[in-house]
Amino acid sequence: MAKRDYYEVLGVARDTSEEEIKKAFRQKAKQFHPDKNPKERKKAEEEFKRVAEAYEVLSDPDKRAQYDRYGHAGPTQGFDFSSTDFRRARQAYSDFGFGAVDDLFDLFFRQGAPRTVTRQQRVLQGEDIEYKLRITLEDAASGTRMKITAPRLISCHRCQGSGMEPGTSKRACPTCRGRGQVEYRQQSLLGSFVNIRTCPECNGEGEIIEQPCHRCRGTGRVKEKSKISINVPAGVDNGSRLRLKGQGNAGPSGGPAGDLYIIIEVIPHPKFQREGQDIHSKVRINYPHAALGTKVKVDTLWGKETVSIPAGTQPGTVIRMRGKGMPNLNGRKGDHFVEVVVVVPTRLSAAQRNALLELQKTFPETEDQS
Ligand SMILES: [Zn+2]
Ligand SMILES: [Zn+2]
Repeated sequence: MAKRDYYEVLGVARDTSEEEIKKAFRQKAKQFHPDKNPKERKKAEEEFKRVAEAYEVLSDPDKRAQYDRYGHAGPTQGFDFSSTDFRRARQAYSDFGFGAVDDLFDLFFRQGAPRTVTRQQRVLQGEDIEYKLRITLEDAASGTRMKITAPRLISCHRCQGSGMEPGTSKRACPTCRGRGQVEYRQQSLLGSFVNIRTCPECNGEGEIIEQPCHRCRGTGRVKEKSKISINVPAGVDNGSRLRLKGQGNAGPSGGPAGDLYIIIEVIPHPKFQREGQDIHSKVRINYPHAALGTKVKVDTLWGKETVSIPAGTQPGTVIRMRGKGMPNLNGRKGDHFVEVVVVVPTRLSAAQRNALLELQKTFPETEDQS
């Protein structure tokens, strides 16, 4: 198809000023805005593109000079600007306050011109939800599988998430007449312009539900207490978050579901304190055992461990059991530290008392404070 003369497209004389060219572009762009020509949309789009291209060239002094000399068949293989981004036209267009300029240009010039330019097919995703899960330290150490009952919104079975009463359909939104957008006039320094906004009635979808589904009242979602299986990996800690993709709330109107986040809370253990991957606990022994040395069985997360207490162990001594603590998420375990508490007996049998009396005689009253 032969290209029309750019000056002709804009309806200006060849010696016209830059200011006049801008003015002409503004007028034509407004005139051929596809939203202003719903009945001849395709034609308006074509004309709009022509106008934008003409402006792109004539508003640039270099390109204009080149065009004046060579016309469309110039040394640059003609002025095929379909691959450029129409920077100047874009700028001029948005300076006019027409709004929604990027969308328009992107749709026209980047991926060809789709038939519907303004209607937004918005797919809304469901919300993420959180569920607090309390587990024991033992479960945190070895990992566990459990079933939880989480309240969430699932897709309505009656309408399959569409929100429409079965057997009914959608109809064009009366507010925007199916376009998904509404125009309103706005005053600015450059005069009065038409601005375009997403239609508030249909949220830009261009359609509204004729008869809402009885079960979900048109939302497409219903509440349910869902049983969900959870794999808790070994090594989780307080505040660990597990993400279950797509297990959150269903999306409105059949959109994709959000995610379910399991927030771990580890119940405090009666015997063990956790510090990162290390476990701390205490073992109580009587002082003759501390003095003479002994072996004791100590509880760990992984069962009982035999610990040697050397002769002369002082109160407060901490003994380390390597690799008997909590695993991290890669399976590497920390250590278990056990503090030796030496118990001074308070109730003595007669035999114990006599033995202690004999023992007492062998020790001095006080020890040197060295
Ligand atoms: Zn429904
Ligand atoms: Zn609407």
